[in-house]
Amino acid sequence: MSISMTVPAYVAYLNKAAAEIERNKDYITALDSKTGDGDHWVNLNMGFQKVISLSAELEGMTLPAMLKKVGMTMMSAVGGSSGVLYGGAYMASAKAAEGHDLIDDALLLAILDAQLQSIMDRGKAQPGYKTMLDSLHQGIEAYRAALDSNADSNTALQALKKGAEDGAEATKNMEAVKGRASYQTNKGVGDLDPGAVTMAMQLQCLADYISENCL
Ligand code: ADP
Ligand code: MG
Repeated sequence: MSISMTVPAYVAYLNKAAAEIERNKDYITALDSKTGDGDHWVNLNMGFQKVISLSAELEGMTLPAMLKKVGMTMMSAVGGSSGVLYGGAYMASAKAAEGHDLIDDALLLAILDAQLQSIMDRGKAQPGYKTMLDSLHQGIEAYRAALDSNADSNTALQALKKGAEDGAEATKNMEAVKGRASYQTNKGVGDLDPGAVTMAMQLQCLADYISENCL
């Protein structure tokens, strides 16, 4: 049985992710203060808070319209690299969701793939560059591998979550090629990338929310 995630369920997930990000203020700010300029939490939290303030409106939209609205909201409300990258990613995922109103296993993979491709294009970055792409890419590849091997949906979601966590952890030993950490003499080696950590938090929330509510 595939997952089946409605628009209100997706909005409920966004609320959970927003709460998780809000809760991790000190941790994320400390990470971005080491390798960046310290504003990553402020940027992302502002975007998520703005998005969830629109929850009632978002719940009534079609899936592509909701994803597009999330993207446009992030694009305008979030500063720093994250605003453009998340905004573009959500807008790209709206295209991937055209014609659909329920997210199943295959569409979830397509949505995440579209987000990855958009961030790679806009950020001129690849997995391995010590960015938010690393947790997203590793999560997607683990999810895809699980679905390809006919794992059940719950097992596949756990693979997504574990892949994202491992991808974030792997940024610790990477040399930054993009983002502010690349301006440092040691290229951020020894520290986690804050954007990879917050991306993994979102994917953890997504996998857990779907496992608990959409199976
Ligand atoms: P800024 O770096 O402009 O201050 P944020 O602090 O909000 O923006 O976000 C920093 C995070 O954005 C980094 O930790 C990294 O994960 C991600 N990032 C930065 N530049 C890029 C890029 N070119 N491609 C992909 N991700 C990037
Ligand atoms: Mg920053």
